[in-house]
Amino acid sequence: MTTFHVKGATLPDGTRRDFFVENGVFVDSASNATVLDADGLQALPGLVDLHTHLREPGFEQSETVLTGSRAAASGGFTAVFAMANTSPVSDTAGVVEQVKALGDAHGYVTVRPIGAVTVGLEGQRLSEIGAMAQSRAQVRVFSDDGKCVSDALLMRRALEYVKTFGGVIAQHSQEPRLTEGAQMNEGALSGELGLAGWPAVAEEAIIARDVLLAQHVGARLHVCHVSTAGSVDVIRWAKARGIDVTAEVTPHHLLLTEQLASGYDSRFKVNPPLRRDDDVQALREALADGTIDIVATDHAPHPLEAKECAWDEAAFGMVGLESALSVVQAAVVDTGLLSFADVARVLSGAPARIGLLDGYGAPFTVGAPANFTLYDPAARSVFGVEHLHGKSVNSPYLGRELPGRVVATVHGGVATVLEGLLVEELARG
Ligand SMILES: [Zn+2]
Repeated sequence: MTTFHVKGATLPDGTRRDFFVENGVFVDSASNATVLDADGLQALPGLVDLHTHLREPGFEQSETVLTGSRAAASGGFTAVFAMANTSPVSDTAGVVEQVKALGDAHGYVTVRPIGAVTVGLEGQRLSEIGAMAQSRAQVRVFSDDGKCVSDALLMRRALEYVKTFGGVIAQHSQEPRLTEGAQMNEGALSGELGLAGWPAVAEEAIIARDVLLAQHVGARLHVCHVSTAGSVDVIRWAKARGIDVTAEVTPHHLLLTEQLASGYDSRFKVNPPLRRDDDVQALREALADGTIDIVATDHAPHPLEAKECAWDEAAFGMVGLESALSVVQAAVVDTGLLSFADVARVLSGAPARIGLLDGYGAPFTVGAPANFTLYDPAARSVFGVEHLHGKSVNSPYLGRELPGRVVATVHGGVATVLEGLLVEELARG
């Protein structure tokens, strides 16, 4: 493990100072340290993504735990929560322990598996929630993401079960009957383009039902990838009533709109779909006022053949780990809505707290685990495939100018990114 002296970094609270890392934790001072010149750089606690698709086991042509971990580190992340829609599905202690072990072995980021709510994501009966919680993977977040737990009784039972150990159900809110065959946001544009519409109410109705169920059970609910202004209203109402609900928004829903579907370029096909300008505005304001708690990437890698086809046939999803911080800067920092202290909260502190992940998202205090990233907000570049470090290149930002650059990432005292480049051989041991 390297000893670091980080010089002249700007901390999230806006103060500018040096800090030191030794034996994996922040310390007061250190001798014989490797100096990292952080003049002009923003220091942030290592980012934490509550919503990542790592695709292993089963879909290794799209991504693996290793390649996804490298993509994450290059984006400034030090921990990711891996979604359960693998093959086999992460619905047993055996699978979640395997995913966690792969993450530990590669060491780029901490990988915390998310357990499936229902067996095989089939929405019929509850998975082995207790066994996964008690396993070495210590699963605390459960989700059928990609599919909605649409059966209200099953959702109630799941909330009751996780309440016993303080876990949380992360719901993919999509009423299945209202979205059969849906291809893009429902409205005038979907009519013009001849694509089947995905009505906002399909998301909002499930969120409304679920916050009431969470209130009835007294359990924690997390709402994945909120995409409409109406969903924000429902969540704001629920929070005002004291319901224990948290919510996430993706970087792409903070920046992109349905207009991008006009060219039938399937890079912009995503679940939930890109919405309208006023939805984007409402999501930004909700993130700023705390109605939406966190930004989560929904990093969803797909091989070329799943995207280079007609819109109707293309897979839903975008990669997002490498671009997340830049997109958040463009959408909500450069527009004056969020400070970097807020960014530290929505991309690190709050997701760590929701996922019950100790040692992440903490401030730069002596004795705390050294998980941080150094970011240059003044950099600008045209986003290209050279910015992508996972296995798939289905990014909606290719060819677009974005602000910011991750200069260094340190995970548990070990550098995973230095001078903007991924470290190939991690100095673990
Ligand atoms: Zn989802």
